[in-house]
Amino acid sequence: MTDVIHQLARIVQTVALAEQPIDQVNLVVESISTGMAVDVCSLYLANSRGEMLLLASHGLAAGAVRSVRIPPGKGLVGLVATSRHPVNLADAESHPAFYYIAETEEERFHGFCGVPLVHTGKVIGVLVVQGRESRQFSEEEQGFLVTLAAHLALLLANSPLARDEINQGNGRISGISGAPGIGIGLSRLCDHGELYAVANAPCEDVAEALRDWHDLLAAVRHEIEQEQQAITADLSDSVAGIFSAYTMLLADPVFLGHVEKGIIEGNWLPGAIRQAIQHFAELFRAMDDPYLQARHEDIHHIGNKLYNSWRGKRAPAVHTDGRVVLVGAQISVSEIAAVPTGMLEAIVCFEGSSLSHTAVLANALGVPAVMGTGVIRSLSNDCLLIVDGNSGQVMLNPGESLLAEYRKLEDDQRFLVKQLEQIRELPAVTTDGAEVTLYTNTGLLADISPGLLNGAQGVGLYRTEIPFMIRSSFPSEEEQVEVYRQVLKAYQGKPVHMRTLDIGGDKQLPYFPVENEENPALGWRGIRFTLDNSQLLMTQVRAMIRATEGLDNLRILLPMVSSTGELDDFRNLLDDAIAQLQSEGMSVKRPALGVMIEVPAAISQIPFWADKIDFISIGSNDLSQYLLALDRNNPRVAARYDHVHPAVLLEIRRILQTTAEHGIPVSLCGEMASDPVAVVLLIGLGLRTLSMSATKIPRIKWLIRSIPLSTAQQLSSDALKCGYPADIRSRVESALHMAGLQELFNRSAAGGRAGQRGGPN
Ligand code: PEP
Ligand code: MG
Repeated sequence: MTDVIHQLARIVQTVALAEQPIDQVNLVVESISTGMAVDVCSLYLANSRGEMLLLASHGLAAGAVRSVRIPPGKGLVGLVATSRHPVNLADAESHPAFYYIAETEEERFHGFCGVPLVHTGKVIGVLVVQGRESRQFSEEEQGFLVTLAAHLALLLANSPLARDEINQGNGRISGISGAPGIGIGLSRLCDHGELYAVANAPCEDVAEALRDWHDLLAAVRHEIEQEQQAITADLSDSVAGIFSAYTMLLADPVFLGHVEKGIIEGNWLPGAIRQAIQHFAELFRAMDDPYLQARHEDIHHIGNKLYNSWRGKRAPAVHTDGRVVLVGAQISVSEIAAVPTGMLEAIVCFEGSSLSHTAVLANALGVPAVMGTGVIRSLSNDCLLIVDGNSGQVMLNPGESLLAEYRKLEDDQRFLVKQLEQIRELPAVTTDGAEVTLYTNTGLLADISPGLLNGAQGVGLYRTEIPFMIRSSFPSEEEQVEVYRQVLKAYQGKPVHMRTLDIGGDKQLPYFPVENEENPALGWRGIRFTLDNSQLLMTQVRAMIRATEGLDNLRILLPMVSSTGELDDFRNLLDDAIAQLQSEGMSVKRPALGVMIEVPAAISQIPFWADKIDFISIGSNDLSQYLLALDRNNPRVAARYDHVHPAVLLEIRRILQTTAEHGIPVSLCGEMASDPVAVVLLIGLGLRTLSMSATKIPRIKWLIRSIPLSTAQQLSSDALKCGYPADIRSRVESALHMAGLQELFNRSAAGGRAGQRGGPN
């Protein structure tokens, strides 16, 4: 044990070679036993009841592994967990806490050293080494184990094994809220072929493979059309747009070229498809922005669809008299389309986020969904499931009382849906007459129609990054005009706030990565990047102005502005663009110009900008991140992030006061706009324009129409005097409950907090 760092590095390297999480933990215990020359190394993992599962062991009886569960607080392992302190003993058996488990056959071992694995302040497991000899482990050995346990805790906390184990305890499975609502039905497992499991293989006949590829594309396009009809005919027009992202990828010359190149270079068709799909999916997966990151799942979906069609497999039609809950690693639109109308109660995905297309689709269809549960091992077809899409929980084979509780919640939910339908065409106005404008956020063409159908009064934020990301080079002016015009036209007569390219930091372009930055969040991003690449900005601004010709509903929004010089530079560029287009014969109206308030430094500069801008939009995601110095996408600190934080609320009040003094219209387009608690506080503080994802609009409108402004004002003034975000949140929540708005948080007494932390959309 002389070279601890060397040992650690060796173990970390070995573990990195394993692909499956279970192989990783097996390698960990083996490498530790070899490295420390001990007879036993075991890893215990805690579940939601505090039991410790023997997850992996080198040295204890093989039959005990993944079968022994130590009750909470029991034995030496329990002592390590409850004390959060190493226990190092020469003779384990003589310790009063010793707890003998016959299956492990550990009576042969005397020396014992156990250390806790702690993640975000909680004990998630225990690492133990044991030796035949009666001897205490040295200080150096103990220190090594403590260091290793800190590394292991990170590995385990982010591993599906941990979620699997936590989810095995009591039939209550935790995931992420994908779409709100409660569904009760019988499970139907969706098990489709996995493209990512396909290996490369030589292509026997290139010409034939290319022909097969084109036939396959035609067949899958036709399949998508049929599924689209099957869904939209019966359910909702709003879903139609969602299919366009699939169709877009299947028509994208860069993607098609990638597959063809793979075939020509000698890979067989499924291998070439996998390579192309993985390439594009990885581009998106690497992005930190959760909205853009979630797009990798869409690409994976379409890849699986191509692969299953190539294998001649289609989603089997579901014949059932009962209500169905679709469960699988990912659920494709084909699987949803295969369920008879009205029979789909809910969706449960082992993978995915609240922003994946399955979640978007579920939202559009009004079907509750829970995402990212990890594999549910104990599940088979026809198990009774309660799916609570509000709290992101799934209850497996629930008892009578729980079922009764959820049936009652289901009734409440139906009441809410009815309320929402009735107010679709009505304005968002408080019971005492304060009117709030509700806009939608969009980024994909596929997002356009849900906004309109949910009553959006315009687009508060159009993220232009996506047309740039799905190409292999910067899109031309013509290409951009075409994309922007579709959005502007769809919202004719209503304002569309189009943001200039906001890349860098968490959003990267595959063909122009901004690399080697020590601190990308503070680096070359947003307006800083585009002003330095003014040729790109000029093309984009020209395209935006051309796209609005005859429609005149364009409003240009600038991201990440932090200084007056940046604003001046952009205004000069805008003047140039207008002059150029006029000299080319276009009659151009100067579009309204606004800035996002995302950088704290922008707040104090609003007075300097009053004569230079027409409006302001608060980007509460970045503003909260920079004010709190917290990256909510970093799992180590995400739990500390809450935008209902006194520091954020006080700064928003400052923004509202300053903009009111200078007569600048202000809106908010971050995640706060769809969090009911935050909305009450924002309205109370004086904000009157909110922009959110389309599916959130009806609930927020119902909330606004159900409360008096005076209550919101009282709650926000109380909140500004409170030091704890959790207290602020719970005070507003209880006020909303007292006002009879519990359906906004609809969850069982035993359920968790509604998933109000989606992505930026
Ligand atoms: C924000 O920061 O709140 C925002 C809406 O922008 P982004 O696209 O960075 O989420
Ligand atoms: Mg932002």
